[in-house]
Amino acid sequence: MKIAKLQTHVLAAKVDKPIHFGAGTYDTFTATLVEIETSDGITGIGECIARRAPRVVDTVVRDLLWPVIDGRDPHDVERLWDAMFGVLRPWGHYRGFVFEGMSGIDQALWDILAKEKGVPIYKALGGADRATVPVYGSKVYTDTPEQMAALAKAQVEKGHRAVKIQIGRSAEWGGPKADLEVARAIRDAIGPDVRMGADANSAYDPDTAIAAGREFAKLDLWFMEEPVFPDDLEGYERIKRGQPVPVAAGESEFGLVGFRELFRRGVLDVVQPDVARIGGFTAGMRLGKLVAERNLAYAPHTGFSCGVAQMASLHLAAAVPNLSRCEWMWIDNPLSQIFEEPLPQQNGGVIAMPQQPGLGRDLDRDKLERYRLR
Ligand SMILES: [Mg+2]
Repeated sequence: MKIAKLQTHVLAAKVDKPIHFGAGTYDTFTATLVEIETSDGITGIGECIARRAPRVVDTVVRDLLWPVIDGRDPHDVERLWDAMFGVLRPWGHYRGFVFEGMSGIDQALWDILAKEKGVPIYKALGGADRATVPVYGSKVYTDTPEQMAALAKAQVEKGHRAVKIQIGRSAEWGGPKADLEVARAIRDAIGPDVRMGADANSAYDPDTAIAAGREFAKLDLWFMEEPVFPDDLEGYERIKRGQPVPVAAGESEFGLVGFRELFRRGVLDVVQPDVARIGGFTAGMRLGKLVAERNLAYAPHTGFSCGVAQMASLHLAAAVPNLSRCEWMWIDNPLSQIFEEPLPQQNGGVIAMPQQPGLGRDLDRDKLERYRLR
C-alpha cells in the first residue's frame, strides 16, 4: 500500500455572535483539512489547526510535507513523522506551521491504518481498554457573572460533571477582580461536586495569576489554564511555586520540544496538547509516555477546531495513559458539524467511543463546499 493522492480543504465559517475570551474576540472559525488516499483506495482525513490564515498551513502541507510522504508506505507512519520533522529541523523550524501541517497528515495516515485493520483509530493506536471517554464541558465564555453562572448550571443539568470557565477579563469587563466574582457565582450555581477549571488564555501577568490563584483555591478550582503567555517559562515557574491551584497548559505547544522544557521546569499538572497542533496521534501518543512517567494528568484540548480535530481528540483521549478528561465544546461552531452525522454527545459527562473503522464520521461534501474559503 502506497500513499497516492492528496486533497486539502481550506474552510472558514463566520458566526453572527462573536465569542469573547481572554485573547480577544473570535468571530470566524477556520480549519485546513487533509485528505489522503492510498493506492488501495483507502482514504484518511486529518485536521491542521488554523486559527488565522488557513491557507498558510495548506501551503505547508502541499509544498513542504507532501513531497516527503508521497509514494511512501503509510505503515511507516512513525518514521514518516520523523522525516517530516526533519525537513526544516536543521534550520531551526521546530515549531509553528510545520507542526500544524504534520498534524493533519499524521491523523490522516492513522485513519488509513485503522480503516485497513477495520478498527476505530483509538484501537489502532494501541487502545487503553477504554470504550468511553470522560469529558469536560467547554467553555463558559465571558459575559456577566449572572449569565455565566446560568450557562454553567444549564450545562451541568445536561449531564456535565466538569466544566471550564473563562477568566482573564479585560478592563472593560471588570478585570481580574471580576474573575473572582465570576468564579464564585459559578461555583455557587453548580455546587461543590462539579469540577471547575478556569482558562485565562494568557491574559494575566505572573503576579496577577499568583494573587488570583490564592483566591481561586478557596473555590476548589480544578486547574488554572494558560495564566501567562506560553513563552513566559519563568512566569510559569513563579506561578507554580506561588499559589496552590494546579497549572494547566499545552494547547500552544508544538511537538515534544516545548513540553520537554515545561516538564523539566516542573510547572505543569494538567497537560493539554491539541492533536491538530502537536503533530497528530504520533506526537500525542509519544507525549502520553512522558505524562505517565511524571504522573501528570492528560487532558486533550479541542477549542475552536473543526469536527475532525474534535473527533481525533476523542480517539487520542481514549488511547492515552493518565487521561483526566477530554475537552468537549458546547459552543455554536458551524465547522464542528462537518460530518454527515452529528458529533457524539456526552451522557453523564462521558462519551461512548464510535466503533466504526477509522475516525468514526464521514465528511459531508455539501458542507465542505459551503464553508470552502474562496
Ligand atoms: Mg485554552
